[in-house]
Amino acid sequence: MNNDDFKEVPDNIQDNNEETTNNIDNTNDNKANDYEDVCYICRRPESVAGKMIHIQPNLCICNDCMQKTFDSMSNGNFGNFGNLGNISNMDFGNMPNISMINLSDLTGGIPNSQKLKKKKPKEEKKVEPILDIHSIPAPHRIKASLDDYVVGQEHAKKVMSVAVYNHYKRVMADNKHKAQEENTTAKQASNKYDGVEIEKSNMLMIGPTGSGKTYLVKTLAKLLDVPLAITDATSLTEAGYIGDDIESVVSKLLAAADNDVERAEHGIIFIDEIDKLANQRDVSGESVQQGMLKLLEGSEVEVPVGASSKNAMVPMTTVDTRNILFICGGAFPGLEDIIKERLNKEASIGFKADLKDKYDGDENLLMQATVDDIRKFGMIPEFIGRLPIMFSLEALTEDMLVKILKEPKNAIIKQYQKLLEMDEVRLEFDDDALYAIAKMAKEKKVGARALRAIIEDFMLDIMYEIPKDDNI
Ligand code: ADP
Repeated sequence: MNNDDFKEVPDNIQDNNEETTNNIDNTNDNKANDYEDVCYICRRPESVAGKMIHIQPNLCICNDCMQKTFDSMSNGNFGNFGNLGNISNMDFGNMPNISMINLSDLTGGIPNSQKLKKKKPKEEKKVEPILDIHSIPAPHRIKASLDDYVVGQEHAKKVMSVAVYNHYKRVMADNKHKAQEENTTAKQASNKYDGVEIEKSNMLMIGPTGSGKTYLVKTLAKLLDVPLAITDATSLTEAGYIGDDIESVVSKLLAAADNDVERAEHGIIFIDEIDKLANQRDVSGESVQQGMLKLLEGSEVEVPVGASSKNAMVPMTTVDTRNILFICGGAFPGLEDIIKERLNKEASIGFKADLKDKYDGDENLLMQATVDDIRKFGMIPEFIGRLPIMFSLEALTEDMLVKILKEPKNAIIKQYQKLLEMDEVRLEFDDDALYAIAKMAKEKKVGARALRAIIEDFMLDIMYEIPKDDNI
């Protein structure tokens, strides 16, 4: 059978379809052009399977599947009808138990959420790397932007700003290196550039609940305009067990990046509650830590597009995690005792054993955490080794809670003031009221998380009564 006979017909169909879609909606068409076509049968994207044959506007089949279809028709059930002309002349509709597929039922095709965004063609690619060093803000500017949203946590903001700055500098160096050696296949964690290896700046963030770990990462991702995926370590399992396998975090990031692989490869993945993987708590936690090693240092992972789990119906793509910034966070309950024990031991060596209770009640003991303490807590050394930037957040004091209520750009009080302004009412809180709220919040021991609940509770009546009053 001659392949070329069949290629011509579908190509014509494609042209006609393009015309009709263009007539219907130009903008939609442009949007659709950003996504790769996916074969309706084998689900491989165009970049893998080659040029697609369009059967209907949204329905396409790759050459291989088309060929296989014809082959099976000529060799198998349709052995006697090797000549397609014969088949097309036959009236299958009249044959018992044979119902032909009605192509118009399939016009919906594969939704964009399961397609990949097209990579820019090579020749269009700028010679400069995507992230130019000059466009990466300096650490002091990153910190200044964080200051607008995050109260206190000076040390954490400083460490993060420097780490992020270095990370994107490293990404840039890596891109430059790649441009120079287009064919390089090295997959090491660290980047060899001019013989100097720049290590990945993955971070381990220790801080009590509600101290702003997630908030810091979210703010950072927003400021840098990079995609962010947030996952709970507790939901992760080794491959083959019930739950999300470890690579699902990359799949989440790809979704956050709008299925744009290049964007996802420069994104941030935040894994919360990492302390729950400590081996003193859970045996399986240790194997999840093991499983994450490759991901943290950089590897190419096959992830499903538009779904959280791999299955035969979902197209797959490869994402390189080498330039993805991983930030792990946890409250590490019980770590204080480990630190206290170590500090007391150190003190006793210096004949200061009388200060045994010196560290009792010190809220910020976590700030003194070392790699050894984390290892004692139950994280495996290889895992800690892949998170070279380690820092702690302060426990929020009443003063900080009051500031959180009123100072950040989107402070809770400002939000209520704005809401009531729409009813032409001016809302003022005096400091005593704010301190009372902060005190109540502190007692709940869930950091700043309690603030909104408390305010919402007593604002409910006000918000309910005010619009009732016709004089306002
Ligand atoms: P964690 O992840 O540490 O448990 P979150 O980041 O979820 O805590 O914090 C809960 C909320 O508290 C955030 O959404 C944020 O509004 C507020 N918050 C916490 N810490 C701060 C802070 N330092 N500055 C401003 N807001 C904060």
